[in-house]
Amino acid sequence: MMNEENLRYAEFSLEYGTQAKALFEGKTTEITDAEARRQIESIMILGTANLTPEKQTRYNNLAGWMQANYSTAMAVMPDGRELPLDPDLTALMATSRDYLELKNAWKGWYEAAGRPIKDSYEEFVALSNEASKADGFNDTGEYWRSWYEEVDLEGVTEQLWIDLKPLYEELHAFVRRKLYDVYGPNYINLKGPIPAHLLGNMWAQQWGNVYDLVEPYPGKAGVDATPGMLDQGYDALKMFEVSEEFFTSLGLLNMTQEFWNFSMITKPADRDVVCHASAWDFYNQKDFRIKMCTVVNMEDLITVHHEMGHIQYFQQYAHQPIPFRGGANPGFHEAVGDTLALSVSTPKHLLEINLLDSVETDTEADINYLMSQAMDKIAFLPFGYMIDKWRWRVFDGATDKANYQSTWDDLRLQYQGIVPPVERDNTLDFDPGAKFHIPANTPYIRYFVSFVIQFQFYEAMCLEAGHQGELYKCDFYNSKEAGAKLAAMLQMGSSKPWPEAMQAIVGSNKMSTASLRRYFQPLTDWLHAQNVANGETVGWPEDTWRPMGFASPDGAPAFLEQYNSTSEVKLFEAVDAEWNYNVNINDQTQAASEAAGIALSNFQAEQAVGAKLFEPSEITDTNLRRQVEKISVVGEGALSDEDLAALSKVNGDMQTAYSTATYNGKPLDPDLTATMASSRNYNELRDTWKGWRDASGKLMREDFKTYVDLQNEVAVLNGFDDMGAFWRAAYETPNIEQQFEAVWQEMLPLYEQLHAFVRRRLYQQYGDKVINLKGPIPAHLLGNMWAQDWLNVYNLVEPYAGYTRPDATAGLQQQGWTAEKMFHEADDFFGNMGLIRAPQAFWDKTMFTKPTDRDVVCHASAWDFYNRQDFRIKMCTEINQQDFVTIHHELGHIQYYLQYMDQPTVFRDGANPGFHEAVGDTLALSVGTLDHLYKLDLIGKPDENPQSDINYLMSVALDKIAFIPFGYLMDKWRWDVFSGRSAKTNLNQAWWDYRVKYQGVTPPLSRTEEDFDPGAKFHIPNNVPYIRYFVSVVVQFQFYEALCGASGHVGDLYKCDFNGSTEAGKMFGDMLKLGSSVTWEDALEKMTGTREMSSASLVKYFQPLLDFLTEQNTKNNEVIGWPDYSWEPPTNTIQNEDGTVSLDNSGNMTKSSSMVLLLVAIQAVLKWAFE
Ligand SMILES: [Zn+2]
Repeated sequence: MMNEENLRYAEFSLEYGTQAKALFEGKTTEITDAEARRQIESIMILGTANLTPEKQTRYNNLAGWMQANYSTAMAVMPDGRELPLDPDLTALMATSRDYLELKNAWKGWYEAAGRPIKDSYEEFVALSNEASKADGFNDTGEYWRSWYEEVDLEGVTEQLWIDLKPLYEELHAFVRRKLYDVYGPNYINLKGPIPAHLLGNMWAQQWGNVYDLVEPYPGKAGVDATPGMLDQGYDALKMFEVSEEFFTSLGLLNMTQEFWNFSMITKPADRDVVCHASAWDFYNQKDFRIKMCTVVNMEDLITVHHEMGHIQYFQQYAHQPIPFRGGANPGFHEAVGDTLALSVSTPKHLLEINLLDSVETDTEADINYLMSQAMDKIAFLPFGYMIDKWRWRVFDGATDKANYQSTWDDLRLQYQGIVPPVERDNTLDFDPGAKFHIPANTPYIRYFVSFVIQFQFYEAMCLEAGHQGELYKCDFYNSKEAGAKLAAMLQMGSSKPWPEAMQAIVGSNKMSTASLRRYFQPLTDWLHAQNVANGETVGWPEDTWRPMGFASPDGAPAFLEQYNSTSEVKLFEAVDAEWNYNVNINDQTQAASEAAGIALSNFQAEQAVGAKLFEPSEITDTNLRRQVEKISVVGEGALSDEDLAALSKVNGDMQTAYSTATYNGKPLDPDLTATMASSRNYNELRDTWKGWRDASGKLMREDFKTYVDLQNEVAVLNGFDDMGAFWRAAYETPNIEQQFEAVWQEMLPLYEQLHAFVRRRLYQQYGDKVINLKGPIPAHLLGNMWAQDWLNVYNLVEPYAGYTRPDATAGLQQQGWTAEKMFHEADDFFGNMGLIRAPQAFWDKTMFTKPTDRDVVCHASAWDFYNRQDFRIKMCTEINQQDFVTIHHELGHIQYYLQYMDQPTVFRDGANPGFHEAVGDTLALSVGTLDHLYKLDLIGKPDENPQSDINYLMSVALDKIAFIPFGYLMDKWRWDVFSGRSAKTNLNQAWWDYRVKYQGVTPPLSRTEEDFDPGAKFHIPNNVPYIRYFVSVVVQFQFYEALCGASGHVGDLYKCDFNGSTEAGKMFGDMLKLGSSVTWEDALEKMTGTREMSSASLVKYFQPLLDFLTEQNTKNNEVIGWPDYSWEPPTNTIQNEDGTVSLDNSGNMTKSSSMVLLLVAIQAVLKWAFE
């Protein structure tokens, strides 16, 4: 049908057009009557009638096919549903707030509507151009532009757009922020373009459907007439009647009887139709129709006015000769109904026709109203502009088929600031074809023009109606004067050049954005203020950013292959530089290490951007998905270059301050550590304790605050509330904090019994002046700089003197063990279980002892260089049992590295950080057993009696149980600092609050906010999270029990030595091999059969000791806990020769007390001042 009609019309055009051409070609200027000349010129354009009949048929078939495809296309959803555009997809795009659902609908539609017609469109364009050339135009685009009788339509429209762009960009920035609040940083970049499917409309061309997300003043009465329409039982007919009534109120024409008889105003159920609303002129002066699949809502009410505006125009110019039955220009035709709709939409008018109950008239309500208008009118402008910018380039050949899609994407990005939610395939995709006007071949710049000039018309009619005040409040309902002004222009049809029609209504012959900008001025100001206040980036400078899920999941394997090969190199470089700094601290190595760290951060950030293009839920292979998720963590690279450099610097400075600090010229390792371990001189211990803190932590207090701010910035940029939350995310367990607390509560009784027992022994050692049996223990008396493990005071707290003492130190020293021998012995332990021995490179490159010629970071650590060959330890080994244990600990890290080295780099990590710490410790529990130490010839043959066993368990408890509260509070304190729960003015106080609360230790002398005692512990200046060690203590006993089971051990758990058990080795190796490729729960289950972190194994292990301690403490009537928690030891202490401490009450302070130092300082100042 369609083809036949078109051909008949073409025949008709051809007949008259050919005659006109024959008579007037090249001579139209000779026609003196202007109207007659315009008619002849119009008739002479033959269009497709220029083509051969075969080509005409082909042209019409292509047009028909493209339109048919558009009208019947269905989006195939992942669940198999097939959805048509109207009403399903349109409604889904308008109402869904589910990112992936919207994306699938968007993708489905663009594939179904666009792709199939891509080839046809190319052929269609060629035929169309051929026809236009025959009419004397260069191409069809030029022909279309000729309707505007404007020499430089492109220049004129570009200038209009330039005027409007600032307003659009303010709106874009504001809306983007609101979408960010809904969809989050994976999907919205606050400096980037907006994903095209989130704006409530399939083409992101009008955004009114997401008004609810962006409402400036939520709760203020809206201007949505939809509820009113539904309440009053509106249907399509009622909507058309209401619209007609508005026209007639202005003295304009009624719709004709034919209109009411033949229009299609709802979607028929029995057949396919073209739903896209349109208005039709049948050129017989009475038959005018609208075809529309009307839905009862305000948006469609406005559309009815729009379409009826066309009908009104048809009617008003029906008396004109056929060639003049058209809009003054195509934009005029589109603007008529919209002009009236601006009046209809005013709250005042909606109230008047009972579609609103009430109207608020304050500024906030006005801003809401203007926003709702802007979401349609302003949001549309760049779309209205870019469609034909694209098509003009297609017609003139600048964009060929190979570039259809990419040029379209470029223009959408450039003008609208939007990006497709999924990567487009430039060969297959043809997104322009998914917009009605492309397959329907309807020129589009008319809508852009309309959106500008309708405000000119509106202002002119408002003026005519006598409106005063703000333009956006004008309702010219019932104004016959306004109607007459409009009618005068409409009746001209296209008989005169459009500037004359413009002059007739506006009083000026130019298109201008002034009325539009005047209308929106209050909103423009408001948006600008909001955006400034929010620090928005207006525009989308990060225009290469794409949302998560942009990349097809099919690309994931290739991406990961690339990542895994390049990341090994990058990691090696960073680790190597960091190592060089650690084993030789100087300005050059610090700078090189910082630079390499920054380079790695930048690499990770860059790769994270690539990984984030994948939507994890779309990757079906769980291993690949997990890799992608891990790589997509940006980390510190999210910072600006400047901030990243600042963070690196502050980290480097804190590390160096810590590692080079000395007291009395002595470094922490080995000197101060040895003093803390072995001295029993109360005052000496206190001086050392204080001296270390003055030299280390105190110096970095300000740096630490800077560090906290920058770290939190990193966290926020990575989508976390603060860095504490970011750290906890490593455990992949939502309620991990509660799990930690629960485990702590389970172990608390054991700790309290140990604490009370040890406090009694210290009381016996130092006397009642400095130990309060109901209070916390002075922190410097426990054999360790941080009171974190108490093994070094074993000799003070030994349960049964004279029984086997589980101390290998004497044996190690007497038998001349070296650091290397200790390492080899530990390596043998791994090897004998069938685990992997440290490779030769390890022995060649490890730093076993402290060098004398340079500063090094002595804190023991194990290193993976990520090249599957190079693994090292760096340690200032001392020959004692504690370091023998530490060697096993560090070799445990090496073992983990070796086991998982064939995993992709992102999985070369512990199942959680605590697992990594637990490996070597688990083995050390076996190595430390009395039988094993005896086998190594480090102790004499152990007695087989309960007293020796209690001694042994006490030694383990002083290491493990004593540590637990310290392992817990380090990060509890840091989490509080990161979250702001602890104020920056109160850092040291908060630290000591936890030290007292959890450990039951108190500082030996009063502390102030001038001090920064947390900084005196390695992991604070070195930015190493600490809860891992707490986790490690718990899980190592779970591992230990599992390995003991595998080795066939029976009897008391604490006696188990799985030395040489290849069964145990296999069990451990199988878990370690997994690295972080599975969650820690999965890894734990594999080895222990449970998914829970549990202290049950630990409690079982220590049960005999707990019984012993409870019995002893009960016998001594010990107060369990430290109810005198605010007690502080005196400082006027004198060390007696018998080891006890007494007080100097003579008024002479001991030389070590801080008061004396203060007095000395004051005297020095005074002396200087008076000289
Ligand atoms: Zn470790």
